[in-house]
Amino acid sequence: MTSVLFTNVRLIDGTGAQPYGGEVLVQGNRIARVARGTRALPPSGATVIDGAGATLMPGMVEAHTHFSWNDAAGLADLQRLPLEEHVLWSANVAKRYLEAGWTSCVGAACAKPRLDVVTRNAINQGLIPGPRYLAGSQEITVAGGLGDETLPHLPFPEFSFGVLVSGAEEMRKVVRMFLKYGVDHVKLNLSGDNFTPSSPAGTTWMSDEEVAIAVKEAHMRGKRVAAHARSCESIKQCVRHGVEIIYHASFTDEEALDMLEANRDRHFVAPGIGILVAMLDHAAPWGITRAKAVEMGYEVELAAAAESLKKMHKRGIRVLPGGDYGFAFTPHCENARDLEYFVKYIGMTPMEALLSATKYGGEIMMRGDELGQLKDGYLADLMLVDGDPLSNLGILRDQSRILAVMKDGAFYKEPEIRTAQSRWGRSVA
Ligand SMILES: [Zn+2]
Repeated sequence: MTSVLFTNVRLIDGTGAQPYGGEVLVQGNRIARVARGTRALPPSGATVIDGAGATLMPGMVEAHTHFSWNDAAGLADLQRLPLEEHVLWSANVAKRYLEAGWTSCVGAACAKPRLDVVTRNAINQGLIPGPRYLAGSQEITVAGGLGDETLPHLPFPEFSFGVLVSGAEEMRKVVRMFLKYGVDHVKLNLSGDNFTPSSPAGTTWMSDEEVAIAVKEAHMRGKRVAAHARSCESIKQCVRHGVEIIYHASFTDEEALDMLEANRDRHFVAPGIGILVAMLDHAAPWGITRAKAVEMGYEVELAAAAESLKKMHKRGIRVLPGGDYGFAFTPHCENARDLEYFVKYIGMTPMEALLSATKYGGEIMMRGDELGQLKDGYLADLMLVDGDPLSNLGILRDQSRILAVMKDGAFYKEPEIRTAQSRWGRSVA
């Protein structure tokens, strides 16, 4: 069994405890011991990593990932990529996420039916490097809703990145198809989105019958459901029907917040706040000036989302980072922007922002008792960071500051500061 000892590191252990100097011994794919102080753990036989005071923390978890989004400025561009290139693209993005410190990701929908499942399987089989991954379906939508990119004069429904259904029976069939392909959860587009002017964010598109049958079919197979839900009514649909993973959740009222709070152990909210900020502040090079973004409704939505999420956070509803990275204005691997936005817009402390990416991350991966914290017996998913993320969360999106990334006990980014010998002169096993 391989054994690695991290020494001389400052630990942010993902429990909420203040940082402390300590050591972590990894044996095989698990954390054998976490200890405070120096020279607390025996190095015998271990490869010793002297962190020189760097921060060791749990690997981060992205709650709303789109490996197949291709850094384009528009939705139609997702489908212009042929399948073969799209598979390779997704595999490459998965590798980049892992190297950037995202050791687990929840797929929030893929652009073609099996892209997520195939990527997850290849990672699990060791064919490609990538995070622990829960595979999503394509987005399931209805005519006119987000994801319906069909054109009236062209008979190609495949051109839509969403799969169109109408009515409970079509929903049942499509959900069963994705379950057959092996998804971990299905993704429903319940609300509109300001990106598509004909179905703005505050509107709700899917019927209760359609949502109910999707949830029933997924739960029958022990799988979860995730939803694009920006409108107030769509958030209530999520709670009423038991949709576990709620994406966006921008517009709320007291009733929606009460419903969420009463069921806060069941739901996760991953708002994807980064895309709202990006549309207002970073999309001008692609023709969406701030004035245009305001006209599209993004200023109103960001203000509403900040209010809603602040209240959710206060009520103990789990809010997690990630969302809609993979567009031109939200390029892949900039995902840790969300942590800074959680502080700026939602009022989290930097420590709370880190917990949202680690402790809550383990929970959304359904492995809260063994993932997302540095604890004895937990899975060895961790990252070594140059500097203090609590005083500057921005370093988490600076690749040069991510000194090492370990997943399941193996390095996917090797530390340069590895010492070849244990500190008492014994050779490394
Ligand atoms: Zn999304």
